Amino acid sequence: MKLATYLKDGAPRVGIVSGDAIADSGFDGTMIDAIARWDDLKPGFEQASRGTGTPLSSVTLCAPVPRPGKIWAIGLNYADHIAESNMAKPERQVWFTKAQTSVNGPYDPILIARNAPFVDYEVELVAVIGKRCKHVSAADAPGVVFGYCVGNDVTERMWQHAGPQWSLGKSFDTHAPTGPWITTADEAGDPHGLGIRCTVNGETRQESNTRHLIFDIWQQIEHLSGAMTLEPGALIFTGTPSGVGAAMDPRQFLKAGDIVRCEIDGLGAIEATMAAEG
Ligand code: ZN
Repeated sequence: MKLATYLKDGAPRVGIVSGDAIADSGFDGTMIDAIARWDDLKPGFEQASRGTGTPLSSVTLCAPVPRPGKIWAIGLNYADHIAESNMAKPERQVWFTKAQTSVNGPYDPILIARNAPFVDYEVELVAVIGKRCKHVSAADAPGVVFGYCVGNDVTERMWQHAGPQWSLGKSFDTHAPTGPWITTADEAGDPHGLGIRCTVNGETRQESNTRHLIFDIWQQIEHLSGAMTLEPGALIFTGTPSGVGAAMDPRQFLKAGDIVRCEIDGLGAIEATMAAEG
């Protein structure tokens, strides 16, 4: 099933996407509520998905999880991206957070802040946690994932490298677009075999496959849940392949008016126009 958060009469609702249409789930809570109660709610959602939908083109989609409790992202997790970044392959997983306030809708503009002009894209597969969990083994990790969506780990490179850890450069407002919806894990199938790409103004910049992750999603969940409780709706950005603008020669950063599209096979695409912060 594909679950989206969308605006209905100006208020966010959880809907079910089928083809080019979205049906209201009939559920009054948030996406996090729906994920947390999924075992009870799933039959009703399946019923609702067979109802009459509204054309997707006529609704506004929000970030699927509008206010995740946590957003964690792994760095340096595709060999080709490590090489272009002139970094060594990490022995241990490298993690940083993205602020909750960086969440952005799948088609909303991405802002370039006045004091932070070196804005770059990073297309990533995003895993959405389904079950409250701690100390999950890699073998058990598939059981705690609710589903997957497309993400753009938008990064301001000057702030990223101004200190030894990257979270500020990763946390500007609008710099965590996700969507366009969550594809549940049962429908997504193997998350380690998906084509992943990013285009800027139609030009392909990143093109890879999630099979090239160095630390796979299960290892990532084992590591993160070894440190803290993961809760329904937590987002894990799983790393970006090569092709970021900072590694181009000459370096290319996003400018107002650029159109950035991030796409993963089977999960859909998100697309944003870059805009100067007001
Ligand atoms: Zn990233």
